[in-house]
Amino acid sequence: MARRGNLFILAAPSGAGKSSLISALLKDQPANMQVSVSHTTRAMRPGEENGVHYHFVDKAQFEALIAEDAFFEYAEVFGNYYGTSRITIEQTLDKGIDVFLDIDWQGARQVKALIPDAVGVYILPPSKAELERRLRGRGQDSDEVIAGRMAEAISEMSHYNEFDYVIVNEDFDAALADLEGIVKSQRNTLARQAEAYSDMLEDLLAQ
Ligand code: GDP
Ligand code: ADP
Ligand code: 5GP
Repeated sequence: MARRGNLFILAAPSGAGKSSLISALLKDQPANMQVSVSHTTRAMRPGEENGVHYHFVDKAQFEALIAEDAFFEYAEVFGNYYGTSRITIEQTLDKGIDVFLDIDWQGARQVKALIPDAVGVYILPPSKAELERRLRGRGQDSDEVIAGRMAEAISEMSHYNEFDYVIVNEDFDAALADLEGIVKSQRNTLARQAEAYSDMLEDLLAQ
């Protein structure tokens, strides 16, 4: 059986660059990495595609999925439900594929409690002014939604210290290189290497 994939949890205030960093990371290595597509009850943004960015469902459908225990974790963020499908995560990890979760701090906490080996990465913007500039620059949310996300940003960011790694996304390429470095390090931890190379190690260490 293939060795289990690594689970990475990425969190950040809205607009810090999580989605851009994950898609840039996956562009180079699509075969052994996958981003988890969440379910959400929020409205679809222009340019978003159902099943690609999110599985867009209504509140009743989401609540039915909660009742079926279909979610690995879920949370209410900005007045909408967001959740990670249990079966998709399990099946992907079982195939040996690394999975990236783009979730809020509440979800991150639930995942870390269930899978202590999951690697938490927090992405910070260099300043509040830059965060707001990026939210506006993205041009996908109304002024009201942006104001709400800026207000939420401070409480979201106050959880940065619950994560294993912190990346400041000032220069995008530097932040991407930091993220790649974290992924590579995680693939080479003792626990994972000992499992992957058990036969070779047995051979090397035989007297
Ligand atoms: P973004 O902040 O611009 O990426 O906006 P989104 O609408 O894509 O995400 C809104 C919030 O929901 C963010 O804090 C995400 O991290 C969070 N989120 C997205 N998917 C999930 C999920 O599956 N579970 C949890 N717990 N949070 C999620
Ligand atoms: P999130 O998924 O965290 O909400 P996005 O990835 O959508 O954030 O990024 C928000 C906006 O900021 C996007 O328009 C993106 O192109 C831009 N952005 C991301 N990282 C940087 C950066 N280092 N410098 C300048 N703009 C950035
Ligand atoms: P957006 O609405 O801008 O796509 O996402 C807003 C926030 O919801 C982001 O911080 C994002 O990480 C979070 N989010 C997206 N999907 C999930 C999810 O499945 N679970 C949780 N807990 N948060 C999510």
